[in-house]
Amino acid sequence: MTGKRIFHVSADIDDFLGRPRIGGLLSHDDGRLMTDAEVRRDLAAWKVDGFALRPLSPCDNFHPKKGCQGHPVTEQEDNQR
Ligand SMILES: [Zn+2]
Repeated sequence: MTGKRIFHVSADIDDFLGRPRIGGLLSHDDGRLMTDAEVRRDLAAWKVDGFALRPLSPCDNFHPKKGCQGHPVTEQEDNQR
């Protein structure tokens, strides 16, 4: 353990839904970028689940309102950065 932590970036769902164009903000599992309508559907679904923020990468320590709560960085991971 190095004592360092990393935090995942998240999107403020209401902020993004209020923007005129958000196509390409997210991508499908196969890497294809989502269209504007697809991004809106995705964000709306997270909102229905009670999320104010949506993680932009997989995160297993995510608070629905505060975002990523951080992940300890191991010595090995730190050396790879
Ligand atoms: Zn995270």
